[in-house]
Amino acid sequence: MISDNLQKAIEILNENELIAIPTETVYGLAANIYSETAVSKIFETKNRPLFNPLIVHIHNINQLEELTSYIPDKARLLASTFWPGGLTLVLKKNSKVPDLITAGKDSVAIRIPNHPVTLALLKQLSFPLAAPSANPFGCISPTKAIHVEEYFGDKLQMVLDGGDCKNGIESTIIGFEGDDPILYRLGAIAVEDIESVIGLVKIKNKEEHTPDAPGMLSKHYAPATTTILEKNIEQSIKSFQGKKIGLLLFSQKINSQHVIHQEILSINNNLEEAATNLYSALHNLDKLHLDIIIAERFPDIGLGKSINDRLERATKK
Ligand code: AMP
Ligand code: MG
Repeated sequence: MISDNLQKAIEILNENELIAIPTETVYGLAANIYSETAVSKIFETKNRPLFNPLIVHIHNINQLEELTSYIPDKARLLASTFWPGGLTLVLKKNSKVPDLITAGKDSVAIRIPNHPVTLALLKQLSFPLAAPSANPFGCISPTKAIHVEEYFGDKLQMVLDGGDCKNGIESTIIGFEGDDPILYRLGAIAVEDIESVIGLVKIKNKEEHTPDAPGMLSKHYAPATTTILEKNIEQSIKSFQGKKIGLLLFSQKINSQHVIHQEILSINNNLEEAATNLYSALHNLDKLHLDIIIAERFPDIGLGKSINDRLERATKK
């Protein structure tokens, strides 16, 4: 049920049950990090493999001390610059953090989300919330309450309504090897913005290189419809003539009678706006019973990198 009843949301979470919560990145499936029962339900509901650790959501930077055993200076700097916001920090955990949250790893992923409803919720709870994206494992992430409702229906007592997600793409994840920052996932905060604060960051976001970030599967965020990623859209349309084609484009429509539906992510040519609209456009296309979705490759700068990353994983066979 989609609802904006904050008190009811608190009640459900205190009873070791799940709710979906709004964040500025995507909707999350949230539970008390200290309740094994509740956290197990996240994995069951999402059908998420247990090797894939969860992000812990807090509301105050001081809570870092409660969950971690070591905080590099660059992590503090990133937290004070980008929180609340779309940046997750992976830090050495302390013994209070349950193994189920971290998939047995000695590190824990943490962020302060920038959403007034979820910040108000977190402030009234006596525990942080573990919250992966509120979609079945591998599917398109939800950026509207209705996306979550369509995925889980009665399996969830409540989708706490916070409107559409403003950033619309998952958080950027930064961990550390010693004191050196490593980027595990491209996301809502552009790499260039991170590097302007802490200098060059090593990127290790491909599955084969990331035993340290076990959830970074090469296939992910995928529509049910076959989806491909192309530089030359017109050429690609020609090769699928006679098929029901849908397009996912950056800023400009394509003139073609062979195409059934086109989603334009930003008529203003703005990469932030494109990221905001990405998943919603994929949800729309996926409902049209198309034979093929052809997605355009984005410019490889700023959030264009994060969008390309998601499209590459969405189109992986
Ligand atoms: P999601 O909650 O669906 O956005 O996925 C969270 C992702 O965060 C996981 O798939 C991992 O890639 C990453 N992550 C979470 N915890 C850790 C950790 N302790 N170490 C490295 N990566 C992590
Ligand atoms: Mg996810």
